[in-house]
Amino acid sequence: MNDTRADTIDVLVPGIGDFEEVEVIEILVSPGDRVAREMSLITLESDKATMEVPAPQAGVVRSVALAVGERVGEGALILTLEVSEADAPPPPPATPTPPRPQPTDDARREGEADAAPAASGVRELVTEVVVLGAGPGGYTAAFRAADLGKKVVLIERYDTLGGVCLNVGCIPSKALLHTAAILEEVKTLGSMGVTFEPPRIDLDQMRAGKERVVAKLTGGLAAMAKQRQVEVIQGTGRFESPNRLLVEGRRGQVRVLFDQCVIACGSAPMKIPGFPHDDPRVMDSTDALALQEIPQRFLIVGGGIIGLEMASVYSALGAAVDVVEMKDQLMPGADLDLVRALEKVIKKRYREIRLGTKVAQMKATAQGIAVVFEGRAPGEAVYDQVLVAIGRRPNGKLINAEAAGVRVDEHGFIPVDAHMRTNVPNIFAIGDVVGGPMLAHKATHEAKVAAEVIAGLPALFDPLTIPSVAYTDPEVAWMGLTETEAKAQGIAYEKGVFPWAASGRALGIHRDEGLTKLLFDPETKRILGAGIVGPNAGELIGEAVLALEMGADMEDIGLTVHPHPTLNETIGLAAEMAHGSITDLLPPKRR
Ligand SMILES: Cc1cc2nc3c(=O)[nH]c(=O)nc-3n(C[C@H](O)[C@H](O)[C@H](O)COP(=O)(O)OP(=O)(O)OC[C@H]3O[C@@H](n4cnc5c(N)ncnc54)[C@H](O)[C@@H]3O)c2cc1C
Repeated sequence: MNDTRADTIDVLVPGIGDFEEVEVIEILVSPGDRVAREMSLITLESDKATMEVPAPQAGVVRSVALAVGERVGEGALILTLEVSEADAPPPPPATPTPPRPQPTDDARREGEADAAPAASGVRELVTEVVVLGAGPGGYTAAFRAADLGKKVVLIERYDTLGGVCLNVGCIPSKALLHTAAILEEVKTLGSMGVTFEPPRIDLDQMRAGKERVVAKLTGGLAAMAKQRQVEVIQGTGRFESPNRLLVEGRRGQVRVLFDQCVIACGSAPMKIPGFPHDDPRVMDSTDALALQEIPQRFLIVGGGIIGLEMASVYSALGAAVDVVEMKDQLMPGADLDLVRALEKVIKKRYREIRLGTKVAQMKATAQGIAVVFEGRAPGEAVYDQVLVAIGRRPNGKLINAEAAGVRVDEHGFIPVDAHMRTNVPNIFAIGDVVGGPMLAHKATHEAKVAAEVIAGLPALFDPLTIPSVAYTDPEVAWMGLTETEAKAQGIAYEKGVFPWAASGRALGIHRDEGLTKLLFDPETKRILGAGIVGPNAGELIGEAVLALEMGADMEDIGLTVHPHPTLNETIGLAAEMAHGSITDLLPPKRR
């Protein structure tokens, strides 16, 4: 114990330029937290920029006066801070900041050897490559750069590596979807004379099972980082200049001085202004994956891939699911014939699907979340829980990119060229934050390009397609040109469709709702696009992606001997449908 005198100070919203009010979008501290001087306390956002408010002094947060979503003006109370004499700001440095130290080759090999406490108490670390964010983009870039001989620092604000995908996205959702698919599948066995008692579901065990899968993967990443001598720093990183990032974490501040940087800070769920997002009954995908309870009345706002995947899980676990989608079709972007096959199945399982309809109002009441719908299917209803899955916004505005001169667009995306380079030559960006489909496999491929360019290799991100998969039941997958795009852009195509009702394998697994569709160039007969709906569509689409990348044509695919009876032979059969050589059905030209 020391007897230093303690005092409290009020921390107020500083000048906010021309704005009367700005929104509080993030509160980074809680009562009881010890903060360092200059450590960010909250993030404010106007329609032009975001701004973090730093602590004027070190101390302990006593109370926080604001909430996320509140609008505040200059002078509003943010929090009270208990400061002691020991926490008083240091006197200004007598000498200017020393120039950035140049790492020597020896120091690089030593890892920690070039980490030095700076005069201000901030640990300083010099590296060749720093990666900001450890999602699938970030850890891939870090590992590839390390494998190519670079000294790499990886910054992640959370305790585990893997980002959204491993912790609260692809992996946990697929673990739950697998369970959901089995729960649905066993119901189909009645026609084979096998029936089961209704399942007993232990949510705690299910959650633990999902968390074990996540822990295995994230733990594996931490081990691989160690093996590659990638130094992981826990904390939130913000640019100070084109060669400097300041990281604030639980173990203090670290200033990273770097030659090259890869921004991989990802994205976050979008919120709807005015909706009661602070109410625990209004969830985002992360909350829904936490699987706290199975609500009786469950609304999913947004009929895209994430919303429909969570609908599959909650419906299989017994919730009465409603889905509302503003557009006229579910899963906008996918061809309607594929979506219809999915819709036919889920219409029987869910209580209501409202298309062309938006949520005009959402209020938290004692009875539940009261929702007013407007559009093609207007009405009112009360729900025990609501999942808002209307898309994700990039985190580009939250990293103080302007201090490095990195351009961030008005939505928060960071524009890059085909080498994944931003407008600042030594700074690259990858993954969700650069736009395009927000998918893990896009992020990892972009990551390798960035790392290879940094290592001096002639790499370029120019895939012919990035496949999309909805792991719903049935799954929907597509790649390359869709029929919708072909029609909208006036692109000529020939089509081969093989309905799964004619597939022995599909019939054998009681799933004849599927179809496999291939689009071909009428001149060259090369494949242009593919769409598949049915169980395992996500596994099957890979063959079509390879066919497109290799420039395969109708005959290449049709003459490839696929094993029988499989679902993948529907790809060969769809090519035969287009070619006219099909014998399992009447060729379309003979009908
Ligand atoms: C429910 C759900 C299911 C999904 N399912 C799939 C799927 O099946 N297949 C698929 O391909 N994609 C899926 N996605 C999308 C996929 O998760 C993302 O496209 C992918 O994670 C993007 O990777 P990334 O590296 O760009 O960013 P992220 O995974 O978002 O990682 C960014 C990381 O950066 C960290 N970070 C951000 N700012 C800072 C900072 N200033 N300092 C330090 N760290 C910072 C974050 O904490 C985070 O860990 C799903 C997403 C969700 C939400």
